[in-house]
Amino acid sequence: MEDTIRIKCTGCGACKNICPVGAINMIEDNEGFLYPTIDETKCIKCGKCLSICQIENKPKEYSIIQSYAGYMIETIKDSASGGIFYSIAKKFIRNFSGIVVGAAINYSNMHVEHIIVSQEDELYKLQNSKYVQSNMIELFINIKNKLDNNIPVLFSGTPCQIVGLKLYLKKEYENLYLIDIVCHGVPSNKFFETNLNNNRINNIKKLYFRNKDSKNINRSVYQYKIIYNNKTKYINNNEDPYYYSFMNNISNRYSCYHCDYKKLNRYGDLTLGDCDSWKEQKEINKAVVNSIILLNSKKGKILLNLIKEEAKLCELDIASEVEHNKSLSYSESVPLKRLYIYQDLKKLKWNDFKKKYTNHTNFIKKIKIIIKKVIGGKL
Ligand SMILES: Cc1cc2nc3c(=O)[nH]c(=O)nc-3n(C[C@H](O)[C@H](O)[C@H](O)COP(=O)(O)OP(=O)(O)OC[C@H]3O[C@@H](n4cnc5c(N)ncnc54)[C@H](O)[C@@H]3O)c2cc1C
Ligand code: SF4
Ligand code: SF4
Ligand code: SF4
Repeated sequence: MEDTIRIKCTGCGACKNICPVGAINMIEDNEGFLYPTIDETKCIKCGKCLSICQIENKPKEYSIIQSYAGYMIETIKDSASGGIFYSIAKKFIRNFSGIVVGAAINYSNMHVEHIIVSQEDELYKLQNSKYVQSNMIELFINIKNKLDNNIPVLFSGTPCQIVGLKLYLKKEYENLYLIDIVCHGVPSNKFFETNLNNNRINNIKKLYFRNKDSKNINRSVYQYKIIYNNKTKYINNNEDPYYYSFMNNISNRYSCYHCDYKKLNRYGDLTLGDCDSWKEQKEINKAVVNSIILLNSKKGKILLNLIKEEAKLCELDIASEVEHNKSLSYSESVPLKRLYIYQDLKKLKWNDFKKKYTNHTNFIKKIKIIIKKVIGGKL
């Protein structure tokens, strides 16, 4: 069982929250991922934790009803992809008097965690992808209380978080709306924090994982944009060990290599992802970053209807998207470097670690191009 937990546990925290005697704690392993541990002296062997764990159980899954590619021009700039999430969330608060739950960066410790937002002007905290495992463990009870008190809740997160929440709640709630994202995997908060510290990037005011400041503002670059100490720094994904290993699937939680959710049948009412097949989509506006929007239930339709008049949408050729967007259909197998990266993070000197886990050759190539340009200019 221990090996199964190591490989399949997503760290959702549902078991900790369902335990009637508080026997389960979520403890960080040496890589910084949270796993449950049971205090046998407290456990009364009721079996509730097993009955709701997603390793053995799954809620009812949905098939896609309709699929679109699209974007919202007003909110696209600060979003990772097409800005659809922010626009829906805004209307959800405004029209339904609801609350929105999603991932935010806690700038006091640079950890990513789920938070509850009830005011439109706080929604910016949830905007943009954070490529780190978000901790939602403390929110289960709070969300259930809101639902039981008839408050409309829009929860957004990775598919394993959606499934964890659904299994914990055990019943369907009319006032619960779920948005899942297409997800390739998550590294740990500890790695993210260590990486920033070792790069001596402190006092961060704002960090984006996807940047749209480039000349072509409608393209989204896989690059950090970090605002700190009154300056803005851009770091390309291949020059940073954390981002490089994320992009290359070297640092994911083990469950992400054995993920049950990389498939077309979904658990959220609506699914959002990047449109990776944009070159092939006939109707799409190719000058703009588009999201894919998969409607999986009636509630998914209700959510999209909130923005349908303002959003720019076109039909999506889903077969073509599946061909280009790997996270919709399969998990990468564990690469060799995954076995060592977290040990190396502790063992190696920072410069050696950086060299090993970035695309060094690209960096050298870049320097050569710059030198060539300078020399060429002089000639
Ligand atoms: C870890 C991760 C991996 C992803 N992998 C892929 C992929 O392989 N292929 C693909 O097509 N799309 C992927 N995406 C989704 C994509 O990056 C966009 O988030 C999505 O297209 C929505 O874009 P948007 O512009 O509408 O919203 P945005 O404003 O960009 O996204 C905000 C939404 O994302 C949620 N979110 C952000 N970070 C996290 C997090 N760490 N954990 C849980 N929820 C989070 C927020 O709660 C909010 O709902 C991934 C996202 C994340 C967070
Ligand atoms: S309920 Fe979630 S955290 Fe607990 S063992 Fe199962 S997958 Fe892991
Ligand atoms: S069996 Fe019951 S008491 Fe024991 S850890 Fe699981 S939920 Fe808690
Ligand atoms: S890849 Fe799968 S297991 Fe990993 S965070 Fe995403 S949904 Fe969860």
